[in-house]
Amino acid sequence: MDISRDRDTFFVGGTWLPASAASNTTEVLEAATGKVLGSAALAGSAEVDAAVSAAREALGGPWGASSGAERAGAMRAMATSLQAGGKEIAALVSRENGMPRRLSLGANGFFPSIALNYYAGLAEHLDDEDLRPGALSHVSVRREPIGVVAAVVPWNYPMGLAAMKIAPALAAGCSVVLKPPPETALDAYAWADAALQAGLPAGVLNVIPGGRDAGAALVAHPGVDKVAFTGSTAAGRAIGEICGRLLRPVTLELGGKSAAIVTDDADLDAFVAALPDICLPNNGQTCHATTRILAPASRYAEIVDAVTDTVRGLQVGDPLEKTTQIGPLVSAAQRSRVLGYIETGKSGGARLTTGGGVPADHSLGWFIEPTVFADVDNAMTIAREEIFGPVLCVLSYADDDEAIAIANDSDYGLGGTVWTADPERGAALASRMRTGSVGINHYALDVVGPFGGVKASGLGRELGPEGLAPYLALKSVYRPPVRADR
Ligand code: NAD
Repeated sequence: MDISRDRDTFFVGGTWLPASAASNTTEVLEAATGKVLGSAALAGSAEVDAAVSAAREALGGPWGASSGAERAGAMRAMATSLQAGGKEIAALVSRENGMPRRLSLGANGFFPSIALNYYAGLAEHLDDEDLRPGALSHVSVRREPIGVVAAVVPWNYPMGLAAMKIAPALAAGCSVVLKPPPETALDAYAWADAALQAGLPAGVLNVIPGGRDAGAALVAHPGVDKVAFTGSTAAGRAIGEICGRLLRPVTLELGGKSAAIVTDDADLDAFVAALPDICLPNNGQTCHATTRILAPASRYAEIVDAVTDTVRGLQVGDPLEKTTQIGPLVSAAQRSRVLGYIETGKSGGARLTTGGGVPADHSLGWFIEPTVFADVDNAMTIAREEIFGPVLCVLSYADDDEAIAIANDSDYGLGGTVWTADPERGAALASRMRTGSVGINHYALDVVGPFGGVKASGLGRELGPEGLAPYLALKSVYRPPVRADR
């Protein structure tokens, strides 16, 4: 796999399309140092048009006539290519966005091949006949590709989030235009390299890194049949409005402000051991991170102390170092935003127990000290808005009913966890949380389980068999019923 650091072409129609005179170039900066890591061309409207045309043309070619089994073969070949380059891809993403390498290895290095192989398995059964004897007809239900997919992804888990769209889209027989963001433009080319290595027909997958304008042009393009978006709630609302007007199917995976309910019988050691991975994954730059920790009043001081000690002890450093638990944020802008939230927390009356600033020994890059606020009221801004950095809030509750009320008193509903020694209590609390996913003494996305949100966290689901459905158009073919008297 060619992990080049300078990309002045786009991957369109199976070849490298040189950037037009009108397109811009961005420097991709290394999150840990702020130094230039490479450069990438950013798509303008000409590249969006070219990519959508190529994707539409591909549907009229061999890909449009392919069987599920044939597509599965191509997807498995792509998976092999991505898996072979997995370590390099993961390291590149860590350098782009600051993600600690162990997480990046799983999420960006190997998850794409896991998703491709999983959906390849589902593709093999898509052509199975689904014949339903009815009262007035024999109905044959055909599952056809929905068409050209616009896949718009953010920088925080760029390869994994692209895989959650590309794998089901290819399984369904769709073609895809992937629009990665400028911050992580470089890793996205691994998809192009894998498509070439796997011999994917021209135009089935197109890669055009670009900014918001390119995303907006792609989403509204007349040649697009379906939009799959992951990103902020603000952008999701704008995209949802456009798709509503166009009556264009759309899935929206948006922000979160998830709660971890720690009960009075919880194993606190187990909770704080899991805290880095569940409350602060990817330095807090994770949509489903459980950043509101709900502690029973009877154990509040003990839990604040344990959370504070754990967070204070986290290893901050170069995301490529094996021992690093907290890397830098993706950009200077993101760091300013998070520092602004920390000031809001302080001025709003929350009690800072650790962190709160820029670590003294990290003058380069965009590091922030992992931070904990205690005495947080759920009405405070830091408890309501998605901070997207290494900042935790600890809130107090009186009983299980109040814990549920606080957990559900949020504009968002994406993740969540319950920590308890009692499995029945855990299941009961989990069932009362208004959210798209919840973990009991654990939390880990899995390719077999549908993932997505309720409320301002989005519309629709990715992953699992449910994640394939948005890429399929169902067609009922009616035939005369077989008469019993014949
Ligand atoms: P963002 O919304 O600014 O950008 C995401 C992507 O959309 C980028 O490619 C961007 O160029 C593009 N974009 C932005 N505005 C657009 C518009 N109006 N039309 C079309 N495209 C547009 O988000 P971000 O800051 O890059 O990412 C962080 C956000 O993503 C957080 O809010 C996080 O919670 C969310 N996120 C959600 C999930 C999930 O599955 N629910 C997963 C990861 C991240």
